[in-house]
Amino acid sequence: MKKHLPLIWPGAIWLLFLFACQPKETNLTHKQPMLVIDNHTYAQPASAVITHLNWKANVSFETHTLEATAIYTLEQKDDSHKIIFDTNGLNIEQVKDAKGNALSFKLGKEDPFLGRPLTIELSPGTTQVSITYTTSPNAEALQWLTPAQTAGGKQPFLFTQSEAILARSWVPVQDSPGIRFTYEAEVTVPKGMLALMSATNPTEVNPDGVYHFTMDKPIPAYLLALAVGDIAYQQLSNRTGVYAEPSLLQAAAYEFEDMDQMVQAAEHLYGPYQWGVYDVIVLPPSFPFGGMENPKLTFATPTILAGDRSLVSLVAHELAHSWSGNLVTNATWDDFWLNEGFTVYFEQRIMESLYGRDYSEMLALLSLKGLKEEVEAILKGEHPEDTQLKLHLKGRNPDDGMTAIAYDKGYFFLRYLEEKTGRKQFDAFLAEYFSNNAFTSMTTEAFIEQLNKNLFVKNSLPIDTALYNTWIYGNGLPANCPQPVSDKFKKVEEVANQYLAGTPVTQLFTPEDLMSKKWSTHEWLHFLGVLPDSLSYQQMEQLDNMFEFTYSRNSEILTAWMLHAIQSHYTTAYQNLENFLVNTGRRKFLAPLYAEMVKTPEGKTMALNIYQKARPNYHYVATSTIDKMLNYTAN
Ligand SMILES: [Zn+2]
Repeated sequence: MKKHLPLIWPGAIWLLFLFACQPKETNLTHKQPMLVIDNHTYAQPASAVITHLNWKANVSFETHTLEATAIYTLEQKDDSHKIIFDTNGLNIEQVKDAKGNALSFKLGKEDPFLGRPLTIELSPGTTQVSITYTTSPNAEALQWLTPAQTAGGKQPFLFTQSEAILARSWVPVQDSPGIRFTYEAEVTVPKGMLALMSATNPTEVNPDGVYHFTMDKPIPAYLLALAVGDIAYQQLSNRTGVYAEPSLLQAAAYEFEDMDQMVQAAEHLYGPYQWGVYDVIVLPPSFPFGGMENPKLTFATPTILAGDRSLVSLVAHELAHSWSGNLVTNATWDDFWLNEGFTVYFEQRIMESLYGRDYSEMLALLSLKGLKEEVEAILKGEHPEDTQLKLHLKGRNPDDGMTAIAYDKGYFFLRYLEEKTGRKQFDAFLAEYFSNNAFTSMTTEAFIEQLNKNLFVKNSLPIDTALYNTWIYGNGLPANCPQPVSDKFKKVEEVANQYLAGTPVTQLFTPEDLMSKKWSTHEWLHFLGVLPDSLSYQQMEQLDNMFEFTYSRNSEILTAWMLHAIQSHYTTAYQNLENFLVNTGRRKFLAPLYAEMVKTPEGKTMALNIYQKARPNYHYVATSTIDKMLNYTAN
């Protein structure tokens, strides 16, 4: 992929009438329609919209394809008598109505990000269409792993990643976060394997390899998910459990032991969990994200299995999406911060409830540091406006919006609102926001309207529009950004300063300190974060001899250390850097490490060498980022 993205406007821009619910206490039955343009779909729900999917699929590990039939229930909204689906790389074989009559269809021109529109002609009374199709072996959402790429090493593995607009590469669908539908599925997989979806799930292997799924709550297409492999289940509580390859199951169950408490803490904050069970599946290492909030079943990276539960805030994050994102969904990818900023805020509050303010402030400070660095980098780049919460991703890959802005600037904006209006009022506003808008979509503008009315006016506080101009529609990080405080981090800074002033590391830490785990993961991350880029080889060696960072089992600490190793040409760590990059597919770690390497010519050569070996283990989401960074063209 080229660095400069082609500016191709989608052929179809649709208008969706979202119905913003009025607050309950006003007793208004009138619903205000809102005009929404989603530039990342061909669908035109104002003409015809899907309401239910019945999906029947066969998973072939030989051909790396899904052979499937998708039967949609639909509603025609106007007299155009056509429905448009998004597709990407799908081979459409047949389209029929409920009576089995063939329907005429046409695949439009291909766009590099959006794929191709599938337009189906309808009769006036048509309420159902069935589409028989096969996916491409290169389908962007699907990652097919060989047995060698799994922990068990015996069976292959398949997982999907549909967000942002990749669902269309495995299901023809109206792939906009503003369009919701329920689904049921029957999936056939090779005997001995377990299949799971973002739906009601089996907990045991079915000998015939056929599995049935139901999702009876309406979800957007980006929450469609499938995983198939040698997977086992362990229940953690009445409504929580963990899935993983058998060899990882015990470690995963240990790491996630507090999960039910997290659900309780979340419910205590913002109302009932609406999805029944909450399970997590630990995927093989090539999963490109930390986690993906697929309803009922979070997909998670194995890099959070640190062995000491120190990285479980990721589970709190994915769980929080059960409210922010899955229940109240960003209407378009330009409103992505409504999914992620809310979720980081909610995650922090869950962590604070469970582990105390001291703990969550450390997380907030780490997030602020990353945010400041990313703001600075984006402001220097070709899209400084990407530092605004409200994005303008028309003609671009919506993945371009997956930066710290949506997550951390979003978080700090909400934290600012909390500090300005008081926690009690802000919590009441959020609880009401989630219940009033459940199972609907939200634009930034509709959110502002609700904020004005239900937080400011309701509490007799003045509406401050400057707030929106700086935080939502302004570049960079506003001067009134909240400042988290952590005494623990202050102590870490003192130690780092003493070390940099020449105190030997053996005087600053005793072996007992290390045995007693005096510092948490977050303190170590802060320590590595405050050390300068210019450590000498000797300093790196001393630190490594004492703390064995090069061999850390903690992926966050390892990444922070490896950044120093690259900056300081600490070659001792290079073999392990390569091992880590070849065996991990999480973009959060890959992107900074490759970015650091390409800063020098030798580093770039090293990066390319490693990438050649590693690339087959990465999902499209990761390769599309790293290809660009390395100017790499796949042949
Ligand atoms: Zn998230």
